[in-house]
Amino acid sequence: MERLIIIGSGPAGLTAAIYAARANLAPVVFAGYLYGGQLMYTTEVENFPGFANGILGPELMESFRAQAERFGAQIQNRDVTRVDFSRRPFRLWADDDVYEADSVIVATGASARWLEIPGEAHLRGRGVSTCATCDGAFFKEKHIVVVGGGDSAMEEALFLTRFGSRVSIVHRRDTLRASKIMADRALAHAKIDFVWNSAVVTCHGETHLQSLTLENLLTGERSDYAADALFIAIGHDPNTAIFAGYLELDVARYIVSSDGVHTNVPGVFVAGDAYDIRYKQAITAAGMGCKASLEAEKYLEELDAEREAGGLLATVR
Ligand code: NAP
Repeated sequence: MERLIIIGSGPAGLTAAIYAARANLAPVVFAGYLYGGQLMYTTEVENFPGFANGILGPELMESFRAQAERFGAQIQNRDVTRVDFSRRPFRLWADDDVYEADSVIVATGASARWLEIPGEAHLRGRGVSTCATCDGAFFKEKHIVVVGGGDSAMEEALFLTRFGSRVSIVHRRDTLRASKIMADRALAHAKIDFVWNSAVVTCHGETHLQSLTLENLLTGERSDYAADALFIAIGHDPNTAIFAGYLELDVARYIVSSDGVHTNVPGVFVAGDAYDIRYKQAITAAGMGCKASLEAEKYLEELDAEREAGGLLATVR
């Protein structure tokens, strides 16, 4: 029986763990088999306050983790596969083990989207990827294609210029969604070119990616496009499937919360990208993790007071 279980180990989950551990709640953190969240798949983080010269995403997350462990957070690299929030204490399953907890912080974040086009699944890990940091180095002096028009796509494309001879960004519109600074960097880069108003509709190759079919979305015209690698950077979906039926989710499956901390189940709190469709930043996720931990602490104090009162009443009777 745990006081607090935290699900997730990105900036939200681990900030919650740091605060909860310092409040002597000995939180159990289910970090996931792929722990650390999305920053594990990023390179230089330039906008996390406190690092004037930037810091590598994985380095930042290792540091979050060490800080949480220093104060007694028990971090397990396992996935929570099922929950039951319909009764108290709450129940959570990791593999075949069942855990009980008085309170839970959901900080499961979001996962990269795939295009869901023919050939993509077959060629995943064979030239098709959503993680430039993980796979970029395999494509030295190759022609790399990036799909997307947001900050992620610009960041991936800029990073991939370290390896590829040429990086082509395929975007479905003729204007970028990315922030001006990132867009300007990509637009000015000598190794980067753009294919506007276009979609990748098929990936071709047997043992590895060899070419793509592109569709011009204005004319409908399709063409073969030679490419050695395809990096998909088209946004994310929240990791909330296991909470359906217990926590209220919106149409895009983000967890609904009136204040960005409380869920529809008292004692279950949310933090980070599983809720936040708008800001999605490491620093905002960390802030939400802090808030969720403080609210969980308050909730547990009230629960203790109720239990004590219940116990006293039982003694009087
Ligand atoms: P995003 O801002 O939602 O951009 C997704 C991009 O993918 C958009 O350009 C979108 O096109 C395109 N797209 C979506 N679905 C598509 C599909 N099925 N086929 C083709 N294209 C598709 O996502 P993001 O770039 O991952 O960024 C998410 C958040 O993280 C943003 O707030 C961003 O600022 C932040 N971020 C910041 C940094 C940084 O500052 N260094 C780095 C990465 C991310 P449309 O434009 O037509 O909708």
